[in-house]
Amino acid sequence: MPSRTPPGELALIDHIRRRASGIGGSSSVRLGIGDDAAILRLRAGEEAVLTTDFSLETRHFTRDLHPPQSAGWRTLARGLSDLAAMGARPVAAFLSLALPRAVAQERTWLDGFLDGLLDLAKETDTPLAGGDTSEAPGAHVLADIVLLGAVPTGKALRRDRARPGDALYVTGALGGAAAELQQVLAGRAAHPSTRDARPHLYPQPRLKAGLALRRFATAAMDISDGLSTDLAHLCTGSHVRAEIQAAALPLHPLTRAHTPAEALHLALHGGEDYELLFTARPGTKIPRSLAGVPLTRIGTILSVQRRKPQVELLSATGVRTPLHPAGWEHLR
Ligand code: ADP
Ligand code: MG
Repeated sequence: MPSRTPPGELALIDHIRRRASGIGGSSSVRLGIGDDAAILRLRAGEEAVLTTDFSLETRHFTRDLHPPQSAGWRTLARGLSDLAAMGARPVAAFLSLALPRAVAQERTWLDGFLDGLLDLAKETDTPLAGGDTSEAPGAHVLADIVLLGAVPTGKALRRDRARPGDALYVTGALGGAAAELQQVLAGRAAHPSTRDARPHLYPQPRLKAGLALRRFATAAMDISDGLSTDLAHLCTGSHVRAEIQAAALPLHPLTRAHTPAEALHLALHGGEDYELLFTARPGTKIPRSLAGVPLTRIGTILSVQRRKPQVELLSATGVRTPLHPAGWEHLR
């Protein structure tokens, strides 16, 4: 268990350094927490992949409804999911924290946050190699995670490489995170006994699937903002259209508590599922599962046509409707 140390930035950083020591990727970190900057080693023939994500109290998590372990886990999961979507392996994480004075001094919430973040770091072999620590200007916790990944040169999965005729797939199941979020906000899921099957509180970044997808995917991205919004991003990036079959969508078991129409809405627009959306040339043999995660074909990539919507949804009875992005978008 973490020991109690007196408050203050230096003590806090030392506390984080001790808690993070020994976790993950020792071969890639030549110099970790403690100097002005980290020194990291990539393998020969690799390119660096870098991503950064905010986790802001009230915007991405709450301190009263989310267990602190979940807030920490999700902070790292957001960055790792971006690496998975690029087909990259994690090299190191950097955590910048702005803490209200009371949170820094009291330490219980922060230790829970670090428990969750470092548990996922252990699971994914991701060392915490640095960060920044500051007193927050207001009453809320602000966190930013930076993830450095690596990928063999030229092999990263991109969202601008889908081509007309490609088949469209997702990993795992959809709608579960949004369904669980409703439970959390209703105060019904705050104290999980297990981390499995908790797609909102403890999402599993699809790192192994992302690595394996490099063998056959033409394009890929993660579904963080909801299928409708992220598929539109993929189509825009690749200058293509897409159609998806409503009946083909793999609905998460947690959506079963909802009506079929609600479940479909959660799967299309819910967001934060952190699954991977990917395309493959027609005729490519796609396994049923990858690294233990089921793969489901949900639609097809089409060429752009004037006056045709960017994404169309085909109902079970064959009715076509335009699918407008209605997932998550900040500052809209
Ligand atoms: P500087 O003033 O040079 O930016 P800091 O005092 O901010 O140095 O940080 C000292 C060391 O502690 C650095 O290696 C930095 O990466 C690390 N560090 C600071 N805050 C965190 C944090 N929240 N998580 C992990 N490492 C941190
Ligand atoms: Mg600093």
